[in-house]
Amino acid sequence: MKYNDYISVAIDGPSGAGKSTQAKRIAKEFGFIYADTGAIYRSLGLACYRQNVNCKDEVAVMAVLRDISIDLKYNTEGEQRMYLNGEDISAEIRLPEISICASDVSAHAMVREYLLKMQRDIADRNNIVMDGRDIGTVVLPEADIKIFLTASAEARAKRRLLELQANGIESDFDSVLEDMKYRDAQDSSRAAAPLKPAEDAVIVDTTDLDFEASFEVLFELITEVIKENS
Ligand code: C5P
Repeated sequence: MKYNDYISVAIDGPSGAGKSTQAKRIAKEFGFIYADTGAIYRSLGLACYRQNVNCKDEVAVMAVLRDISIDLKYNTEGEQRMYLNGEDISAEIRLPEISICASDVSAHAMVREYLLKMQRDIADRNNIVMDGRDIGTVVLPEADIKIFLTASAEARAKRRLLELQANGIESDFDSVLEDMKYRDAQDSSRAAAPLKPAEDAVIVDTTDLDFEASFEVLFELITEVIKENS
């Protein structure tokens, strides 16, 4: 049974598949809130990184998590900002070393359980498009539509490199591809909420589609669901 009267769109998939750019555009087009759940794990990854805590040590990571405050807020433009103990860390969490920490901390079952309510609370109060790895399978299993967005590792690494460069972060194709493969393997093989399409997800492969063509596919899918719900 659905928990509320709001529409929820779940977008899952591996890193660099274009989830956040597509989700932002969808949110704008339909007037929904966009929630990037990876940013929550990145915030915890940054907290551990700063405190020199081993991100693979579940007990140590949980001690950090219980001691900090992570807040997800929206500015007046509707853009999501992340705060760690009140400090705006939205830019810092995008650094490549923090991507790895985020993947490491997110593999812990206790961490995922602790952060679940925060994610569900956002969807409980808004029409939402939420992206992550387990939105359709765990966070919002009753989402109105579940999309699993994917592309080849090479295509994703190319896009991620362009995104990093656009944000002024130095990197190169080989290290982006290597980081991506590390995260793909870890995210898909972990016991707690592994990355996989929900049984009722629509799989959209964007390897050969540009941004506009991918958006068209998603737009059609979501419009259909909204019509069915109205
Ligand atoms: O989406 P993004 O690349 O920012 O996510 C950073 C990391 O957080 C991912 O590699 C993944 O390990 C983790 N994550 C997750 N579950 C989510 C969102 C992100 O495990 N719902």
